Amino acid sequence: MKNSSLLVTLVILLSTSNFVAADSCNQVIEGNDMLQFNLKEMVVSSSCSEITVTLQHTGAMPANVMGHNWVLTNTADFMPVATAGGGAGMANNYVPVNDARVIAASDVIGGGAETSVTFSSDLLSAGGDYTFFCSFPGHYAIMKGSFVVRD
Ligand code: ZN
Repeated sequence: MKNSSLLVTLVILLSTSNFVAADSCNQVIEGNDMLQFNLKEMVVSSSCSEITVTLQHTGAMPANVMGHNWVLTNTADFMPVATAGGGAGMANNYVPVNDARVIAASDVIGGGAETSVTFSSDLLSAGGDYTFFCSFPGHYAIMKGSFVVRD
């Protein structure tokens, strides 16, 4: 009885948070010390003229060891941009400079920090194929997900 009511509460909480995430032009995503984002998919509405993504690093390790950022590209550009980002170095937040393939990119942060990036939806179209990832060297293989723009 106790367990089942807990389960119901969890289901309601999960449904509520999914609903909010799907409709919000303000997205929040967490990264941790285990090379993980807490989301595999982010959904925004095509009615958003601007989108803000806030990245929270819930770990404790410093940025030079376990840094995370949030980068958005077309899925076709994901691998080349991630590779180029590694070469750009920490001074450039591991993002290639003046690269038109980068739709949005945040700073690299370490544990306990938070950063956000706001970008125009002009470069996005509903139904497009986008990937978000962390471009810190070696992280993009695991720290990535789908970015969905819904009509
Ligand atoms: Zn990372």
